[in-house]
Amino acid sequence: MQYSKIIIPVAMLQMNSPNDVPAAFYGNIGAVIGHEIIHGFDTNGAQFDSDGNINSWMSQAGQASFDSMAQCVINEYNEFNYTDSNGQVYKVNGVQTAGENVADNGGLQAAYNAFMSDPEWNKPFPQTPKLKDTTNEQLFFLAFNRFWCIPPSDAFAASHDMRFA
Ligand SMILES: [Zn+2]
Repeated sequence: MQYSKIIIPVAMLQMNSPNDVPAAFYGNIGAVIGHEIIHGFDTNGAQFDSDGNINSWMSQAGQASFDSMAQCVINEYNEFNYTDSNGQVYKVNGVQTAGENVADNGGLQAAYNAFMSDPEWNKPFPQTPKLKDTTNEQLFFLAFNRFWCIPPSDAFAASHDMRFA
């Protein structure tokens, strides 16, 4: 039997202290852990059985449902694009990024479900001027976005899973 493992650098965990805010915890490290677990069931991971062998293990109906879900994700991400500083439009390659996108969506959903089932999900958090009137649910999604957010750049678009439109 083969095992997969998830390695989480301690620096990622340290991002959650010093405020101990559940919304931030689930929105960033919770979504990361969910993302990595979902990789075991994304468009690549779902091809492997419990022994780590490439083997179709889903029922026909399950496979059809999975394929439909995966195609929906591919279609959605095929519509995303970025326009560089010269006006060149790059489109996300939905097929090439399907595994990551399935993991992102599934991981975020799992983290959100865990967050909402935490008895302390609505715990008050420090209200900075920028977070004034922000709800815990909004903070969850802000934490997720902030965790992976990088400024867009032409070099990034040219080198990461994007193609000319
Ligand atoms: Zn990933």
